[in-house]
Amino acid sequence: MDFDVPPESVDFANEVEEILTAPETGRLLQDVFARQDGMDGNPRELYRHLGDAGILAPSWPVEYGGRGADFTATVALLEKLVAHRIPQNLYCISVQNVGSLILAAGSEHQRKTLLPAIASTELTSCILFTEPGNGSDLAGITTSAVRDGTGWVINGRKTYNLKSAYADIALIAVRTDPQGSQYEGLTLFLVPLNAPGVVIRPIPSLANEQFHDIWFTDVHVDEDALFGQVGEGWSLITQMFAAERTGLDYYARGRHWLDLVAERLDEDGRQPSDVVRAERARHETRITASKLLSCQVMQNLQDGNADIAESSFAKWHCSESAQRIAWWALDTLGPDMLEPGSDAGDRTLEAAFREAPGMTISGGASEVMLDILSSARVFDHAPRGD
Ligand SMILES: Cc1cc2nc3c(=O)[nH]c(=O)nc-3n(C[C@H](O)[C@H](O)[C@H](O)COP(=O)(O)OP(=O)(O)OC[C@H]3O[C@@H](n4cnc5c(N)ncnc54)[C@H](O)[C@@H]3O)c2cc1C
Repeated sequence: MDFDVPPESVDFANEVEEILTAPETGRLLQDVFARQDGMDGNPRELYRHLGDAGILAPSWPVEYGGRGADFTATVALLEKLVAHRIPQNLYCISVQNVGSLILAAGSEHQRKTLLPAIASTELTSCILFTEPGNGSDLAGITTSAVRDGTGWVINGRKTYNLKSAYADIALIAVRTDPQGSQYEGLTLFLVPLNAPGVVIRPIPSLANEQFHDIWFTDVHVDEDALFGQVGEGWSLITQMFAAERTGLDYYARGRHWLDLVAERLDEDGRQPSDVVRAERARHETRITASKLLSCQVMQNLQDGNADIAESSFAKWHCSESAQRIAWWALDTLGPDMLEPGSDAGDRTLEAAFREAPGMTISGGASEVMLDILSSARVFDHAPRGD
C-alpha cells in the first residue's frame, strides 16, 4: 500500500475543515442537536449545506457529482465529519453504501439521474435488508415482489434499519422467486418511501439514533425501480458488503473517542498510572491498525480488487477496537462520564458508551465476520496489480 497522502487530499481536508468550522455549519449543527431531544435529530438541512459545498462524494467521478479524487479524500472527509460531531449514519448509508453500489453496478441511467442527487443529498437512501427473522442469514429473506402488469407489488416487513425516517428512497432486498436455491431468488429494488402502502414506525434504541420497522403492504413500484437484474440480488448484496465493510466509519469514531479520552487524561494534570498508560498505548496501536486495514480495503476497492474476506476482517477489527475504546473510556474516566454536562466532548463520550454495543452487530455481526474470514482463502500478501 502507498502510505503517501496525495497533496490534493491534503488540500481537500483543509477545505472541509474550513466548511465545517464556518458559522453557518455550526448553526445548522446546533439545530440538529436542538431537535435531538435525547434521541434522533433530522440532519437533512445540515447535509444539504454540506452537499451544496460539493464535499460529500470526493472519490466519485466528476460527472456523477464527485471530484474524481483518490480514496484518501474520503478518509479525510470521514475523519473531519466525526471530529466535528456531524452525524454520519445517513451520510454513510446513503452516499458511501447505496451511492457506491449504484456507481459500481447501476445502469448508466441510474448513475446519471441518482448519483448527483445523492452526492448533494437532495436525495437520500436507506438500506432495507434485515427482517425480523433474517439478519445475519439474509438469504432467508421473505419480503416478496411479484410482477404486476408493468411493475411489481411488494409485501413484507423490514426491521432494525437506520435513518429510514429521513430517507427518500430505500434499497430493498426482496424475494422474486420462491422456487430453487435461496440465493438465486433475490432481487434489489430502489423504492420511494412515500409510496402508498409503506408504513414506517420507530424502534427506540440504546444509542442516539433510533431504528425503524417498515411494513410494505401491496406497494406498487414501476419496472424502473428494479436495481440490477431479476435474481441478481445476492451477488449485488455481496458486492455492497465489500464496500460497506471498509471499517472506515468505525475507525473514525474510535479515533475521535480515543483523542477525547487522551485530552481528558492530559488535562487532569496527574501522572496516569502505568496501567492506564499501557492501555492507552494499546488502543493507539489498535486504532492505527484500524486505519491501515480500512485504507487497504479502500485502496483495493478503488483498484477494482474488492475482497469480501479482507473487508470482513477490517469491519471486525475496526468495530471491535472502537467498542473497546468506549468501554475503556468509562473504566478510565469513571462513572461521572455517564452524566455529562454541556461539554461537547463529554457528551460524545457518554453517547459512545451507548452506541458501542451496536457497532459489532451493524453491517454484519462480529461472529459472522470471523466466520467469513475463517472460510476464506489465506490472505494473499503478494502485491496486487502490477
Ligand atoms: C446499529 C445498527 C444499525 C443497523 N442498520 C441497519 C440498516 O440500516 N438496514 C438493515 O437492513 N439492517 C440494519 N441493522 C441490522 C443488522 O444488519 C442485523 O442486526 C445484523 O445483521 C444481525 O442480524 P440479527 O439482528 O437478525 O441477529 P442474528 O443474525 O439473529 O444474530 C444473533 C447472534 O447470532 C450470531 N450468529 C448469527 N449467525 C452466526 C453464524 N453463522 N456463526 C456464528 N454466530 C452467528 C450473531 O453474530 C449474533 O451474535 C442494523 C443493526 C444495528 C445494531
